[in-house]
Amino acid sequence: MLITHDTECALSILVELLNTAPEACGSEQLPDVAALSAFVVRQEISEIDSLGPADLAAVHELRARLGEVFSAGSVERAAELVNTLVAEAGTTPRLTNHDHHGWHIHYFAPHAAIGRHLAAELGMALAFIVMAGELERLRRCEAPSCARVFVDLSRNRSRRYCDSRTCGNRLHVAAYRARQRSAEAEAGAEAGPAAGAVSAAGR
Ligand SMILES: [Zn+2]
Ligand SMILES: [Zn+2]
Repeated sequence: MLITHDTECALSILVELLNTAPEACGSEQLPDVAALSAFVVRQEISEIDSLGPADLAAVHELRARLGEVFSAGSVERAAELVNTLVAEAGTTPRLTNHDHHGWHIHYFAPHAAIGRHLAAELGMALAFIVMAGELERLRRCEAPSCARVFVDLSRNRSRRYCDSRTCGNRLHVAAYRARQRSAEAEAGAEAGPAAGAVSAAGR
């Protein structure tokens, strides 16, 4: 897989950003400038000089457009969306080794506003994913009550849930309960919960 570490880092920011949306997690996780500011610190986004309401609006808009790439349906459509994003961002590749990181490329213009900064960086990360033929690794969680996104970097592209510790387990519990209900219906009340179902739900 031709995905560099830098692209992986950008993809991780992309996923975190998309999962702040109300449609992904039920409520807006970036409701105000303070929340956006905390996001910038948490994700270690560099060269952000100031943040205001216009930046918040720009990030919300960008988030929706990045989400479209996840549900593009075809590589052609994804490429079109990515091209538009990156063109609008005013991408200016430059080498940097700031903050003791090794040499890497920044695609955003120096000190660009956060909307354009993220459009350039995350747009380019998506461009690399398309180029590597790995678009199918961009996924939405398959748990019924979850719309969070994730990037499946597993070797065999087998990941189905946004976070196996929460969604995966929640599904196992739901499957266990469903089996328990049908077992009870079949066996009648005297059989009680089927012990076999517990071990069957172990994975
Ligand atoms: Zn950097
Ligand atoms: Zn999920």
